[in-house]
Amino acid sequence: MALGNDNELRELIRKVALLNAVQHCGKAQVGPIVGKLLGEVPDLRSKAKELTALVNNILSEVNGLSFEEQKDTVEQKWPETQKKEKSEEAEKKLLPLPNASKYPQIVTRFSPNPDCVLHLGSARAIILSHEYAQAYNGKFILRFEDTDPKVKRPSLIFYDKIRKDLNWLGCKVDEEYIQSDRLPIYYEYAERLLRDGNAYVCTCIPEEFKNKTIKSIPCPCRNLSPSEHLERWRQMLSGGYAEGQAVMRVKTDLCHPNPAVRDWPALRIIDTAKFPHPRVGSKYRVWPLYNMAAGLDDHLLGVTHIIRGKEHLTNGVRQEFMYKHLGWEYPTAIHYGRLKITGAFLSKSKIIQGINDGIYSGFDDPRLATFAAIRKRGITAAAVKKMIIDVGSKPADVTLSWENLFSYNRKILDSITDRYFFVSEPFRLAVKAIPRVFNAKLLLHPDNAQRGYRQTLVNPIGKDGVCSFWVTKKDAELAEVGVMVRLMELFNIKITSKAEKRLEASFASESYQDARGAKARLIQWIVTEDSLPCKVVMPDASTVEGVAESACKRLKPDDVVQFERFGFVRIDEAAPNLTTYYAHK
Ligand SMILES: [Zn+2]
Repeated sequence: MALGNDNELRELIRKVALLNAVQHCGKAQVGPIVGKLLGEVPDLRSKAKELTALVNNILSEVNGLSFEEQKDTVEQKWPETQKKEKSEEAEKKLLPLPNASKYPQIVTRFSPNPDCVLHLGSARAIILSHEYAQAYNGKFILRFEDTDPKVKRPSLIFYDKIRKDLNWLGCKVDEEYIQSDRLPIYYEYAERLLRDGNAYVCTCIPEEFKNKTIKSIPCPCRNLSPSEHLERWRQMLSGGYAEGQAVMRVKTDLCHPNPAVRDWPALRIIDTAKFPHPRVGSKYRVWPLYNMAAGLDDHLLGVTHIIRGKEHLTNGVRQEFMYKHLGWEYPTAIHYGRLKITGAFLSKSKIIQGINDGIYSGFDDPRLATFAAIRKRGITAAAVKKMIIDVGSKPADVTLSWENLFSYNRKILDSITDRYFFVSEPFRLAVKAIPRVFNAKLLLHPDNAQRGYRQTLVNPIGKDGVCSFWVTKKDAELAEVGVMVRLMELFNIKITSKAEKRLEASFASESYQDARGAKARLIQWIVTEDSLPCKVVMPDASTVEGVAESACKRLKPDDVVQFERFGFVRIDEAAPNLTTYYAHK
């Protein structure tokens, strides 16, 4: 049987070719593919020539797909291959986890409060936790910490938006938990702590409690019997106390050098008739505070490594007292430094306020540093990931700029995006004396002819051989009469006159050498009949109006392309209302 008729073999070649393409920015090479196939199926060695021909055949199809299509196919058909690659990548980059050998399986978690969308400020916690779990073949948990229905009130829309952001970042969640589903569990441990005399229900006025603990003096509640506290606890649950009248505290060391650690509050009453929880309404009135819920869950969900900002150091100290009471061992905690991004605006409350006040168009407003906003601008998840992994988990503070992120993104986009001409603030240019019809074939990518080309006809009319182009206002303003300019990839012209809104020129020559000799400016152009209106939304939310070459009709939402001499943009709406978002230069 001819190899070409063997469907199983064809499918295997397709797989190997696609994996190779995805590893090499969309361009698969025949040599390594044949090598891999011969390694996997030794019987093929006698038919190497026929195999190479078949591989070439399938390769042209695979290389004809866009990088995105290639990645999608691989992710859908062979997701296990992607998982392995990612973990290999991570292991190379991340420092080894401390105590890794102590645990049978590494378990990490990301635990957001669904009171806002995620932004770059969360990137470190998410990506490091996920990458470490992947690198060690472990488990990555998403835990919604939604136990404050009053002040940091969760909202239903954010649970899904957060899931979507993680998905976009490529951080696959192995298990998901929602703390508002787990209140009976927290109650059970609260009772255990009370019964064992390791916690108490404090009914003191907060100010008086504070004045005493600062002097290391126990409040009057602390030394009452466990049965008295269990009774108070039942009162808390049944409504015997109003909001603010009682709080359960975990016993610590009243002489602890940090007064903020001393007998920290673990559960409090919230009037859920007034402040119903978006998921469970008024079902519960006693809600755990952060250290109680997070502390219990880390143990109960088997978290082995907590990767979090160093602002949580004191919380770790608080929780260790509870762990001791329960006879548990505290997980390994890694505290990384603060990651600041200059110019990025990372306050959740200000983001929400700005949206409510109509200052921002939504969570994806280009001025914001939310994942939704950077995604809309064509910043890739891979760039965010690479940047965070390079920064790592060191405790020192790190300040990055948008430009750092752009440079990671540019490296990723440069080889995989198609090029098109876009002319902002179009200015009319009439070129005379064009000697013939030019059928301009412009490469979609200057270094990769395989990506194909776009075509435009420069068809001079009349005895003067005139053709009309759009050029940018800026290029028009810089043009000087008598000076040579090169229309990129087309021909050279000499400016003959310059007037308000109109520039005239005559054909000079074709060769690029002439342009180099004359140090001519290279400018992008669009034949006026071959253009379509195009808007670009800029990072400051302003809009640049212009025209794009008509080949841009083929672009679909979410495509990212480079507008030459302008920048990378993501297509938000396809033609005829072509609208794009600006990523960066
Ligand atoms: Zn008290």
